[in-house]
Amino acid sequence: MSRILVIGAGMVGLSCARALAAEGHAVTVVDRDPPGDKCSFGNAAGLGVTEIIPAAVPGLALKVPGWLMDPLGPLSLRPGHLPKLVPWLWRFLRSGTWPEVERITAALATLSARVYEDFLPVMDELGLAGEVHRVGALWVYDTRAGFEADARFRALRRRHGIVCEEISGAEARALEPALSEAVQYAMVTPQWSHVADPKCIVDRLREHLAARGVAMVAGEVRGIEGSSLALADGRRLPFDTAIVAAGAWSGRLAASIGERALIESERGYNTTFPAPGVTLSREVIFAERAFVATPIEAGIRIGGAAEFAGLDAPPNYARSDVLAELGRRYLPGLNIAGGTRWMGHRPTTADSMPVIGRSVKRPDVVYAFGHGHTGLTLGPTTGRLVAEIVGNRPTSVDIAPFSIARFS
Ligand SMILES: Cc1cc2nc3c(=O)[nH]c(=O)nc-3n(C[C@H](O)[C@H](O)[C@H](O)COP(=O)(O)OP(=O)(O)OC[C@H]3O[C@@H](n4cnc5c(N)ncnc54)[C@H](O)[C@@H]3O)c2cc1C
Repeated sequence: MSRILVIGAGMVGLSCARALAAEGHAVTVVDRDPPGDKCSFGNAAGLGVTEIIPAAVPGLALKVPGWLMDPLGPLSLRPGHLPKLVPWLWRFLRSGTWPEVERITAALATLSARVYEDFLPVMDELGLAGEVHRVGALWVYDTRAGFEADARFRALRRRHGIVCEEISGAEARALEPALSEAVQYAMVTPQWSHVADPKCIVDRLREHLAARGVAMVAGEVRGIEGSSLALADGRRLPFDTAIVAAGAWSGRLAASIGERALIESERGYNTTFPAPGVTLSREVIFAERAFVATPIEAGIRIGGAAEFAGLDAPPNYARSDVLAELGRRYLPGLNIAGGTRWMGHRPTTADSMPVIGRSVKRPDVVYAFGHGHTGLTLGPTTGRLVAEIVGNRPTSVDIAPFSIARFS
């Protein structure tokens, strides 16, 4: 029985720990703040199985200046962070060609195709089977130009088995009467689901692991030194295998063994409205404004935004307020009283693909990070793959595209 240390108690790390413990390994999870409010705590609760198209696509660069200038726009960048962002940005822009988009989409589709097979048994095990709402999602557009510009992405999704039903604005309002007249065109993606409460899933996963003898150590990992994790308080934790699942912070840990991962914190914001005064029956994606509204147990959560400001800058909750304002534009009856604002660090790689696989330098280090917008969705699938890698078995999907080697 080998000693496995998992760094990170977010959705991905806990899912890896669960899958490894189920195979009889002695697993310990290390996190500087195990029950903390990290990215897995407050996300938009979507099982975004249709999200297989990378962020960098042809034509995106032309939209960026307009987005940066628009106070209600989806993108912001703190100028002081720009020098650090350059290598990531350069690779991001280079990924935005059609051949790359097709290659990355095909790779992400292999992960996405496994989601329900891997996610639902975990929810069953946690006693949360009833909390997955398999009701699809509604993508809405205000302009014909925006709807038509996405036609190429609908076609690409369909090629990978994703159902995209095109409907009118009136049909969208028939499905979701809370939507305003601003909605002119829409698309239904029936394969999408949402969960009642993402925080409940990570809370239950921690309890489930504790009941199965998985130890949880509170401590900040400074780096991997020899066959130990070096903690900030001087402790050293020996391992046979280390799993790096530290979300947006994983790049620092890979660097401690001399490997490069082009990963950034893509900071996202949301506000959860406890008494929204309107109802939604499914997640709504406001495609041209790049934000979403999800009906969760705690109310309606409106979130989105991509802010590049690094891991250490304090949150700018004006971004949450912008999203609330947009929410009222599209959901005119929305009551924004008592909203709770939140910011999380999406672990986003320059090519929108996670890093899953063994380190190139150290076979005893396995990476599981960089899930960007879909870490909730892909947590259990990543756990399965990591257990297969550690067990030296063939993996359920080809993990070659997800190797950290692509950044070296
Ligand atoms: C606004 C927003 C909306 C989103 N909506 C969705 C959605 O609808 N669906 C979806 O699938 N995904 C969504 N995501 C993305 C998803 O939340 C993330 O991809 C996912 O949470 C990443 O999980 P993780 O376990 O990799 O990282 P995290 O949850 O960030 O966990 C990493 C853990 O590592 C720990 N850690 C880091 N460094 C160290 C260290 N040196 N030592 C010890 N511990 C360390 C941290 O404390 C943390 O607990 C959203 C994200 C945001 C911000």
